[in-house]
Amino acid sequence: GEVATMMDVPITKVIGTCMSLGIMVTMNQRLDAETLSIVADEFGYEVEFITTDIEENQEIIEDREEDLVSRAPIVTVMGHVDHGKTSLLDYIRKENVIAGESGGITQHIGAYAVTLDNGQKITFLDTPGHEAFTAMRARGAQVTDIAIIVAAADDDIMPQTKEAISHAQAANVPMIFAINKVDKPAANPEKIKEQLAGMNLLVEDWGGKYQSHDISAKVGTGVKDLLEKVLLEAELLDLKANPTKPAVGTVVEAQLDKGRGYVTTILVQAGTLKVGDYVLAGKNHGKIKAMYDERGNAVKEAGPSTPISILGLDGAPTAGDKFNVFEDEREAKQIAAKRTQLIREQSARTKKHTTLAELGRRIALGQFKELNIIIKGDVDGSVEALADSFSKLSTEEIEIKIIHKGVGAITETDVNLASASDAIIIGFNVRPAGNARALADKEEIDIRNYSIIYDAIDDLKDAMEGMLSPEM
Ligand code: GDP
Repeated sequence: GEVATMMDVPITKVIGTCMSLGIMVTMNQRLDAETLSIVADEFGYEVEFITTDIEENQEIIEDREEDLVSRAPIVTVMGHVDHGKTSLLDYIRKENVIAGESGGITQHIGAYAVTLDNGQKITFLDTPGHEAFTAMRARGAQVTDIAIIVAAADDDIMPQTKEAISHAQAANVPMIFAINKVDKPAANPEKIKEQLAGMNLLVEDWGGKYQSHDISAKVGTGVKDLLEKVLLEAELLDLKANPTKPAVGTVVEAQLDKGRGYVTTILVQAGTLKVGDYVLAGKNHGKIKAMYDERGNAVKEAGPSTPISILGLDGAPTAGDKFNVFEDEREAKQIAAKRTQLIREQSARTKKHTTLAELGRRIALGQFKELNIIIKGDVDGSVEALADSFSKLSTEEIEIKIIHKGVGAITETDVNLASASDAIIIGFNVRPAGNARALADKEEIDIRNYSIIYDAIDDLKDAMEGMLSPEM
């Protein structure tokens, strides 16, 4: 979609070109560098690849064998909604108490590390689900070493279970199955194993290579054994990192705290991060003023596989951004500035999502076959009236599709849906709630608010004829 907009050719033609290369794609898919070049060439364009990756700009120093030490595995929990991902993460977080620590983990910083009885550690990413996992991967960050796939034993292997499996497989991340809710009378773990076998995924007790364990995330049955299996898998992976060099890693979460400024949780993947280090993370930079672990303790240093919250960056980087430590403050600032400029240029060149204002132009270019709309309103009557009237505006060139309608404020879920299906959002006497506005700005989703039905209909008509004034 982006590359089609950049070249000003219909998306269908780009998809067609990809298909002729034997690559099946959707409009939201990312193309690799080689495919991009070939596709662009087809339409008479040349692709220039610009990089602000640190790796490309700095000499890479190979780690010496004697500097490498074992590091804790980093684990993501995935699976179908309601199958118990959050419960499992909560149980592990609460039950695990480090020797000498009086309580469980109280802070949510996006990742946490636990120490088992035998002193071995496991780091968990605390955002369950393959969406976060895949969003990070889309930014080029692969932090997960092992995926726990949770499947409820009183249910079947569900669509999102399959998705989670595909995402883990696509990332080449080994999986361990946690067959959950075995405390329930209706639980039938063997059925899940059978269904896995039907997908060519044989678990151990079925003579296969995949570790699996029956658990109850609610009561805690089997969770300890599951964690042992995680450690076993980690041992096979022989995970190592060099703690002696300046730290590198990935941003997990970032937010603005009223009292403390920008708080960024990062996962150190190699090296050791220290208070006072000068850090570049995505387009943001700054000197680390303080660091805190998931228990709220101030710490001075963080080694490989450690999740840590840092204070001192000049903004909030995005989850999945890499971070590096710089000796030279000036160099870090320069790269940050270059990245900011690149991002600005890129978003000026590409419009990720449909807006009403550019609808007419794109219909005229033949780029458009359907317009997806989400309607949110204060009362059911007006929502239905709008949906009806909008649908009637469909023409031969363009079909108006109401993909979702409902009573209530415009929520983040609405914006996510709009983003995933390239829709615009029409609000009738309702406003975006919570972070929906900020998310919409970031995702470049067009939200239009109306309080008169005819205004909304007129705007859509005008937009379809390419006559809508750009900003209202
Ligand atoms: P998620 O959507 O995958 O994060 O699922 P949740 O962890 O939110 O769990 C969904 C529901 O299942 C909640 O009501 C949990 O209390 C319940 N649940 C999760 N694990 C278990 C379990 O092991 N046994 C029982 N009986 N209920 C569970």
